[in-house]
Amino acid sequence: MTRAFTFPGITTRVVFGAGTLARTGEELARLGHSRALVLSTPNQRQDAQALAERLGDKAAGVFAGARMHTPVEVTEKAVQAFLDTGSDCVISLGGGSTTGLGKAIAVRTGADQIAIPTTYAGSEMTDILGETASGEKTTRREAAIRPEVVIYDVDLTLSLPLGLTVTSALNAIAHAMEAFYAPDRNPVIEAMCRDAMRAFQSAIPRLVQDPADREARGEALYAAWCCSTALGQVSMALHHKLAHVLGGSFDLPHAETHAILLPHTTAFNAAAVPDLLSPIAGVFGAPAGAGLWDFAKASGAPMRLADLGLAKADLPRAAAIAMKNKYWNPRPFDEAAILTLLQAAWAGTRPAS
Ligand code: NAD
Repeated sequence: MTRAFTFPGITTRVVFGAGTLARTGEELARLGHSRALVLSTPNQRQDAQALAERLGDKAAGVFAGARMHTPVEVTEKAVQAFLDTGSDCVISLGGGSTTGLGKAIAVRTGADQIAIPTTYAGSEMTDILGETASGEKTTRREAAIRPEVVIYDVDLTLSLPLGLTVTSALNAIAHAMEAFYAPDRNPVIEAMCRDAMRAFQSAIPRLVQDPADREARGEALYAAWCCSTALGQVSMALHHKLAHVLGGSFDLPHAETHAILLPHTTAFNAAAVPDLLSPIAGVFGAPAGAGLWDFAKASGAPMRLADLGLAKADLPRAAAIAMKNKYWNPRPFDEAAILTLLQAAWAGTRPAS
């Protein structure tokens, strides 16, 4: 019998394709706004300024101070800029760090958001906001956090460096991996995730050969949309918890940490729910954890937490922090099991399952 499910619906409007950045003004008008604050990281300031120029008097200004993990002190300055410029909407042009700043402004001011993602991290389709204050990262979920419009312009991803292309894709695959066993999964999300696995598996090797392959960039960004939608609709488990602990408490870089953990968390849970993870094994090779490890290695991804500067002596503390709050996972675990998993990810060994 068909499994019972709830499909919450997708409320974000999505505009996808090459050259779609040109439609930003039209989307702004469609939302009923006429003064947008354009956000970016310092790295992507030029792109943000070019977009503001293109928008003309519909752009109220540029705030190019977005930083990873959404520090509250940056948000406070950005909210001030939003108010000082009389803005009525934010446009976030960049990866998860910039999308996070847009969300943080929106949740404080009620502003509408247009997100224009340029990585595969997948924050844009979610109602999740992680923020850091005094070295601690907290996460919340609220309807006001979810962007109203997402514009996926394939051309903006042509400049994504190869290293980040690969780790960001693995970051996106992690959303799908956990969606396949999420207790609140639904057939729409499962279908999107299956399609995303095929698209990434096809696109990433081509991008490793030629990062400017526009066709492969399109497939990868499409897959990123599918995975972001999954992240925004269903619950995540052990993998995301461990990535959050290593990013929040040990300041490890977001995409690389996800990429390194993924084969190990997949292997750990595949031992309990191999059937649910068969879409991964079917695409990347069986068993699922080893298949992803082989794919990551062939794509040139970093393989060892040790290479991100994490000391072996830190692993027991990381395992203890990961045990602090209870959360659902398809395979039960204790602190010793987490430590063993982290040791494998630290050393970069190929998982057996
Ligand atoms: P990022 O946004 O920090 O980007 C990394 C660097 O790459 C930045 O300097 C950025 O300017 C640059 N960059 C981005 N796209 C580029 C492009 N196309 N060309 C050239 N340079 C480019 O990294 P990320 O991995 O996208 O995002 C990580 C952050 O997003 C973390 O803080 C994470 O917690 C958050 N995140 C949140 C959610 C959520 O749902 N709340 C989901 C995923 C990620």
